[in-house]
Amino acid sequence: MKLVTSLLAAAAISVASFVAPAFADKGVVGISMPTKTSTRWISDGETMEKLFKDAGYTPDLQFADDDIPNQLSQIENMVTKGAKVLVIGAIDGTTLSDILQKAHDAGVKVIAYDRLIRDSGNVDYYATFDNFQVGVLQASSLVQGLALDKASGPKNVELFGGSPDDNNAFFFYDGAMSVLQPLIDAKKIEIKSGQMGMDQVGTLRWDGAVAQARMENLLSSTYTDAKVDGVLSPYDGLSIGILSALKGVGYGSGDLPMPAVTGQDAELPSVKSVLAGEQYSSVFKDTRELAKVTVNMVDAIMSGKEPEINDTKTYNNGVKVVPSYLLKPVAVDKANIKDVLVGAGYYTEDQINN
Ligand code: BGC
Repeated sequence: MKLVTSLLAAAAISVASFVAPAFADKGVVGISMPTKTSTRWISDGETMEKLFKDAGYTPDLQFADDDIPNQLSQIENMVTKGAKVLVIGAIDGTTLSDILQKAHDAGVKVIAYDRLIRDSGNVDYYATFDNFQVGVLQASSLVQGLALDKASGPKNVELFGGSPDDNNAFFFYDGAMSVLQPLIDAKKIEIKSGQMGMDQVGTLRWDGAVAQARMENLLSSTYTDAKVDGVLSPYDGLSIGILSALKGVGYGSGDLPMPAVTGQDAELPSVKSVLAGEQYSSVFKDTRELAKVTVNMVDAIMSGKEPEINDTKTYNNGVKVVPSYLLKPVAVDKANIKDVLVGAGYYTEDQINN
């Protein structure tokens, strides 16, 4: 019996060693994601990890805790381990030039994931959403929430931007301002604090606590005798901080309605907040689709084919225009958020309701 067992075990090992290379010989793909503090990046990373495995690659998934040196050393390790491709969601899009030069010298291909990597010629492709359109959707939803057509005087709005080291933040802001600036010029919207432009409204590392503190300051400096009607927020994690500051001084109760506050990513706590009538809207970006596009890109490159791209002019990273694939973002508010997200299978009805 013992002999049979060990013979079987030996046979299993030799089958395993015979079969294993056939599954795992397409090479290592390094996946460097910025942080786990926002669930979207966990979902991006895990979806890619699974899809790469299914396609016969060996994914090496790392999260960098929003720490730049950490991300650099994780990427360096991937190159040392012989990764053939790097998929990078950068923390700071300007800090990767040296390591990408090393990667390039070692023949490694580089894909900028969601966020553009700047100041490097060694970025082969970019997979992302239409980031300008994200801003357009946020501002259009804000305008809807302000009900400007019914208003007599201008509505009071404050602006928040994303992290100034993330190229996307400028696209979101510019997209939003393409809608808001004409309304500001027409005196239908007033930025009461006067704080405008990414240098004044940016929020380093997309930190919700920083946004909350800035909103608290705005409330005590500018709104003791006036009321906030709307807040442009570029990301759900900031919106939570902003809403918390607003609630802290009584908005959302009594005769002080909650201002229209926008968002992005349709993260679960914010979806619930939208349904509860607190956050006004969010923007749904199906990260599973972005992961799929990226894995297909990598597979095409590795098979010596041209990956599918649909934009060759928008994303100049300071050295070159990076060929890109842009996915479509979708605006969601109380009226459609459940249908869109449950319909897409992004969340179950249970997740949203409980
Ligand atoms: C992404 C957004 C996200 C933000 C904060 C941006 O680069 O495009 O989807 O809300 O980072 O994580």
